[in-house]
Amino acid sequence: MWALQDGVFRDDEIPQLNIFSTKVFSDMKDEKNVESFCLRNGVDFGSLVTLEQVHSAKVAVVDAGDKGAKIPLADGLLTRQKGLPVAVFTADCLPVFISAGDKCAGVVHAGWKGLHAGVLKEAVRTVVEKFSASPGEITASIGPHIGKCCYRVGEDLKKKFGMQSGETHLDLAAVAKRQMKEEGVKKINVCGRCTCHEEELFFSYRRDKQPKRMISIIQM
Ligand SMILES: [Zn+2]
Repeated sequence: MWALQDGVFRDDEIPQLNIFSTKVFSDMKDEKNVESFCLRNGVDFGSLVTLEQVHSAKVAVVDAGDKGAKIPLADGLLTRQKGLPVAVFTADCLPVFISAGDKCAGVVHAGWKGLHAGVLKEAVRTVVEKFSASPGEITASIGPHIGKCCYRVGEDLKKKFGMQSGETHLDLAAVAKRQMKEEGVKKINVCGRCTCHEEELFFSYRRDKQPKRMISIIQM
């Protein structure tokens, strides 16, 4: 279950440290804000692994050698390394925490492009192939993102996601759930909060037309 406390969202059904920042901690495009968010939440900023984030389907496996790295051309991070925090930045896109008990943990950045490219399916397959976990061992948890309530889309996306002719709004979390279920994941939590219309809590690219971001961090 996702809950908000002291300006931080987390899912208490994920066994690893998992945190999602809100506006309380300001814009995570600014490294100083990331550092203070980390400090406040017991995360070693110097070890934080991030991604270039290019709306791809590529998922990187990282370990102790990647401490502090920014991994190019990927949108998902997985690790089994204890104490290694991995992160993605989002505004309206889906931040998806992935946990396979004591085998690995990770986080994925998935907007419509990443979902369409199959980044979540790739993340689940990587957990299975590289960490010898079964899909049934995975808990996936979708953090705050633009809700169906605010995500009106055009003909191009309606076609890409097979929406009915009368449908106007795309439910990204529903697409994400369907894709992960197809890969055998059974436990999927969704934070129902909408980044676009909860202006006091979240940055939203669609609403603000500015590239301010929140951060999602998970650590084994
Ligand atoms: Zn909304």
